[in-house]
Amino acid sequence: MEFDLIIAGADCAGSTVAKLVGEAGYSVLLIDEKDEGELGRPWHDAVFPFVFELTGIKPFGKERTAASTKIFSPNQKISGVVVGGKDYLVSREELSAKLIGSIKNIDNIVFKDKTEVIRPLQKDNSVVGVELKEMGAVKQYKSNITVDATGFKSVLRKQMPFESGIDSSDVDDYETCVTTKQIRKRKEGDIVGESVWGVYGGGMWVNNDRPGISEVGLRYRGTLDLNINEILGEFSKSREYIDDKIITARTELVPVRRSYDQLVSNGFMLVGVSGCQSDAMSGMGVSASVLAGSLAAKTIINAIKEKKYDMRTLWPYQVEYIREKGAEYSGLDIMKKYFQYITEDEFNFLFEKEIITFEIIEYLGGKKETTAEISFRQLFLKFMKGMLYKPGLMNRLRKAISQGEKMRKIYAKFPEKYDKELFEKWKFNVNKLINKVKKECSKFDDGIEYNH
Ligand SMILES: Cc1cc2nc3c(=O)[nH]c(=O)nc-3n(C[C@H](O)[C@H](O)[C@H](O)COP(=O)(O)OP(=O)(O)OC[C@H]3O[C@@H](n4cnc5c(N)ncnc54)[C@H](O)[C@@H]3O)c2cc1C
Repeated sequence: MEFDLIIAGADCAGSTVAKLVGEAGYSVLLIDEKDEGELGRPWHDAVFPFVFELTGIKPFGKERTAASTKIFSPNQKISGVVVGGKDYLVSREELSAKLIGSIKNIDNIVFKDKTEVIRPLQKDNSVVGVELKEMGAVKQYKSNITVDATGFKSVLRKQMPFESGIDSSDVDDYETCVTTKQIRKRKEGDIVGESVWGVYGGGMWVNNDRPGISEVGLRYRGTLDLNINEILGEFSKSREYIDDKIITARTELVPVRRSYDQLVSNGFMLVGVSGCQSDAMSGMGVSASVLAGSLAAKTIINAIKEKKYDMRTLWPYQVEYIREKGAEYSGLDIMKKYFQYITEDEFNFLFEKEIITFEIIEYLGGKKETTAEISFRQLFLKFMKGMLYKPGLMNRLRKAISQGEKMRKIYAKFPEKYDKELFEKWKFNVNKLINKVKKECSKFDDGIEYNH
């Protein structure tokens, strides 16, 4: 059987593409290896309001107009409350159920759960469908366009040939975070969420937005070997409102890097975490995956109308993503590379000397609703104060910001149309800056036990 579109992976990225292309009247095969009831995650995630606008799902969950979080220095001696912007805290299981539910009545979408996608089918340097395993039987399905939305597993991406231009390698350990969430009971009452910064090359947090529940989390650099239960057990014990018993827990790998240079090839697209379309600092990717899904759907619909499925025709999707969200996250990726070399002691110093203040955190969060106002002069004075004590550290911070901004500008100039020469030049500029940053960072690698 032949489809206009086959999508491997039916979580937020895949089901967004399926819904939007299906609603436009084209035939879609959406596949997931999980049982339909197991889609999503057994916890609540923060998502931006545009997730509802783009998917057409009626807003649900807890609307947080100004979510407050108590931020701590790594040694937890300094703390302050930071107010964020508007978001929604949604059950991931409910979000998946609503997305899948909304495509059930679209006749031209076929949804297969408990079905494992095995490999892409290739013909003349194009992807022309997938091979899958359905109730033990191996089958092949053909399509004009195939989307890999299988998240970190990236089942199709990893089998793409070199000539396609798609990066088929594993995500580097330094660009991967191990992320855990434990759901525990807690005492009733309004308790503000808490977040410890700069520990284990990531952070530790507890979200208390759900009545009677604490969602306790840990995110750490993929190069470390940590005892998660011990660390989160101790953290939970130090908060007497959190119960000892874990109701449920899950650990996954998430990419923390800029999106891939190339998200499309002939008849093929990467959407969501399979294309590293998530926040390069925190690994949060529900909103970015939905955004990428909606942009991909727009390009797919145009391609089907034109009956052209080559890389050139699919190119506009990556222009739109890379120039906007991709650029923002590419800047964060560079900053994070420098931050990996900031030790916990150095982070404590920055908090203790008020070089990082809670006002700055709120301001840099870029939240539109923030009331914090920081002048350039204030930032400059703080910088000079830091220079008196730790010039090396302050220089690293300065470089993190300036090189991050440089990368953001390069990403914002992603070539409008596919032109081999222009694209190679763009990739050259990206790699040149990455190599420079890596070289600068390696100079900090001088035997001190760094925070990564
Ligand atoms: C502990 C933790 C906390 C997080 N908190 C947040 C948060 O607060 N906010 C936020 O925005 N993000 C958060 N994230 C990240 C978020 O979960 C991901 O960014 C998001 O799920 C990415 O969506 P996706 O659709 O690209 O991939 P996924 O959600 O990973 O979906 C991939 C789908 O592909 C399917 N699949 C895989 N292999 C195959 C195969 N061979 N055949 C068929 N199907 C296959 C899987 O079953 C899955 O359903 C968190 C992640 C973790 C681990």
